[in-house]
Amino acid sequence: MARRPNWRAIRIHRSYSVDEAARALGVAKVTVRRWIASGGLPVIDDCKPTLILGAELSAFVKGKRAPRHKLRLDQCYCMRCHAPKGAALCEAELIPAKGASAMVRMLCETCAAVMHKRVSWKQVSQLSALVRLSGAQRVKHLGETTQPCVNDHCQKEV
Ligand SMILES: [Zn+2]
Repeated sequence: MARRPNWRAIRIHRSYSVDEAARALGVAKVTVRRWIASGGLPVIDDCKPTLILGAELSAFVKGKRAPRHKLRLDQCYCMRCHAPKGAALCEAELIPAKGASAMVRMLCETCAAVMHKRVSWKQVSQLSALVRLSGAQRVKHLGETTQPCVNDHCQKEV
């Protein structure tokens, strides 16, 4: 995958020649000329050398950026595949974290790399309908329970 030009390198209140724009963005001059020739990147008319407004250059480069991957609840972003991936064998492990969220760990369905993502406890119940979740359940904060604290996780005597 080609490196995407960084629009943050562009000052919107100045204008750029093709050469300056190429250098600021770290792309070839011919790339900037291609953007102009395609009609996508407007230039200041009747001007030699060709000048591009920083604001228009910035907007153009921003527009070129690939859209962010939207993950489904049962997907994680696989760093090895560079894509959203589902869980291998539809299995995921829940790792309790502090606060209102938990970590979910799953293996990539394609390359089996370990993937993580943070989910809220509200999402955990929805997620458990989509994948087999293993791991710890949420430990309730004392203030959230109306029941007195009992050792009910101990095996009941028969
Ligand atoms: Zn993968």
